[in-house]
Amino acid sequence: MAGFRSLARQVRDQGCDTALRRYSLRKCLERFAPYGHRATWDHLCRRHGFGPDDRELDPARLVAALEELEEARTVWLAYEKEFAARRRREKHGGLRALGAPDDWHRAVWGGNGVVRCGDPAVHPTDPLPEVVRRLVTALKDDPGEACPVCAGARIAWTGEPGEETWYGPVCGDCGVEVPRAVLTPGALARAREVRGRPLVSAA
Ligand SMILES: [Zn+2]
Repeated sequence: MAGFRSLARQVRDQGCDTALRRYSLRKCLERFAPYGHRATWDHLCRRHGFGPDDRELDPARLVAALEELEEARTVWLAYEKEFAARRRREKHGGLRALGAPDDWHRAVWGGNGVVRCGDPAVHPTDPLPEVVRRLVTALKDDPGEACPVCAGARIAWTGEPGEETWYGPVCGDCGVEVPRAVLTPGALARAREVRGRPLVSAA
């Protein structure tokens, strides 16, 4: 399976036809897609002004979308590197229990779905690198009361335990699934209380 970088090279390859370059960009999202594959694709299409089946597509738009994705990936991979180094230090210092990686970090390792959006059409509109930076800041900081991406306070629990879909807090404003580690016990408890309420307002 081709890696992210070789797929990125294909997106930039002016010798390839545009359809193949678009296909390669979509394949990049199988390696790195902060909102999940479909929501990240929807985001890139909207932000860079191309449709999923655009026949008259200007390849420069694909490259611009790729650049946005690459920058976000760089931010995330730097965080992972730091996280892994910190764990090694803790292990070395005998603090293994303190640094045990949680299920969430294991599940998103590599950067796929770090702020997944269950509904592919409801996701933040800010540039991806900015969104990933906000998440990384929240992960390094003490847990907070609000969404790490949009600072919204309308967070509600969703899903069923044991199912493959997300079981946890979701932001009712920007639509991201919020990693539990960034929320205080109080915010988590409040999110559990409002489960079942409609998540996204019509406004
Ligand atoms: Zn939010």
